[in-house]
Amino acid sequence: MRRLLAGSAAAMALCVGVTGCSRPIDGIPTANGAPEADTVAGLPASDGPSGRKPDAPEADLRVVGGTGGEIDTLAADTVVDVHEYWNTAYPETFDGSAFRPIGRLVSYDSRSTGREVCGQRLTGMVNAFYCPGSDTIAWDRGELLPKLRNTFGPIAPVTVLAHEIGHAVQHRAGLVDADTSTLVAEQQADCFAGAFFRHAAEGSAPHIRVSTGNGLNTVLGVLSYIRDAPGRTGFTDPRAHGTAFDRVSAFQYGFSDGPGRCAEMTEKSVTRRTTQFHFWKEKQESDLPVEADNILLVSRSLRKVFADTGVAPPTISIDSRSCPGAEGTEPVSYCAETNTVSVDMAGLRELAEPPTSGEKPSGYGDFAAYAQLASRYVLAVQQAAGLSLRGDAAGLRTACLVGAWSGLLVEDPIGRRNPVGKLRIAPGDVDEGVAALLGNDSLIAADVTGSQVPAGFARIEAFRIGFQQGMSPCASEYGN
Ligand SMILES: [Zn+2]
Repeated sequence: MRRLLAGSAAAMALCVGVTGCSRPIDGIPTANGAPEADTVAGLPASDGPSGRKPDAPEADLRVVGGTGGEIDTLAADTVVDVHEYWNTAYPETFDGSAFRPIGRLVSYDSRSTGREVCGQRLTGMVNAFYCPGSDTIAWDRGELLPKLRNTFGPIAPVTVLAHEIGHAVQHRAGLVDADTSTLVAEQQADCFAGAFFRHAAEGSAPHIRVSTGNGLNTVLGVLSYIRDAPGRTGFTDPRAHGTAFDRVSAFQYGFSDGPGRCAEMTEKSVTRRTTQFHFWKEKQESDLPVEADNILLVSRSLRKVFADTGVAPPTISIDSRSCPGAEGTEPVSYCAETNTVSVDMAGLRELAEPPTSGEKPSGYGDFAAYAQLASRYVLAVQQAAGLSLRGDAAGLRTACLVGAWSGLLVEDPIGRRNPVGKLRIAPGDVDEGVAALLGNDSLIAADVTGSQVPAGFARIEAFRIGFQQGMSPCASEYGN
């Protein structure tokens, strides 16, 4: 997230007329019928343990270099369950052909090994990847998988491996070749992973379980956090990936509609619905530190975006936190009685910390922090419209309106809307917002009491509708 500086208008003008500078968007993915806050593609959303079932028998699987430690056991059990899923799903999807298990599984420690896979030395490769040439899946048990597990929980390595086997399925089914773009290959692998997770969420996987509430929310969070490119570049390459929106949508397709839907993904269909609109820069250019001046800047931007809604702009307070008869939320709170948004600067700063891998993330990044402020601001908008501030509908409207605000902060907003004010966001910012949205401590899809919409699927969809279509659907889609 950054503040526009003097030179940027000129730089923006350079972009005009450059082919492919911005791409048309259509085919916004939404679920059929009214979005459900408490179900996930027909399954009731409920929290519960996710990862390896504690009483599951250890899988009997040959893993080259495996140590039989906790991570390797989780990885092997995952591979066995995903294999088993494809044993049935593959012939159903691909004209009765049998699924061939992954030829070779390699566990390595990126901190020490001298081993080679795919003609590449694994030392220092903090990664997990599929190598089509030798039909190998390799994972770093030393650094990457433990990091992901420590950060997100045991379902994170499962997500990574289900995605990598998704690449193997692509190759087996002849869905990818040298001309396939990374965008399509990645999203299709996410989609195949989604299909497996449906199977696990229904309780049908022998070793792996995932809850439809916080479990799947974590899986979606992992997708929005990890990026990879096909083949050897693997999960840690920040280049060539869809936005968090794209990846999560692809996963949702697989989860909701099954692997047949994934097999239909083509260059054209992915490009059509993808959110690869023009951003100011490829990557995060600068952060907007949480300071009083920047709070003011963000407030002005909100005021401008929602000026036509008839809302009396709420007072933004960074010191007073009292609200008669209400408890308030952290780190930002909306008091309906006084129409005040109170900000706890220290708490917001913590959220604005850039996400770190390895340790428990303290924050999601600057945009995620300011999106919390936006989420409380848009409660004032809802209040002015006579809408309820409590319950799932309020949480979904909040996510939708925060999405609408965010969609106006890109340099070249989609739907021919005009960019507003002096704030701009980069793709990394949207990814931060999506990651925060899926966290269990975020206000972006929460009502005035801080109660979050249970299903991450619904949170994402509401945010996306606002982001892509603006604020008008927010009230009509999510009525009281
Ligand atoms: Zn991949």
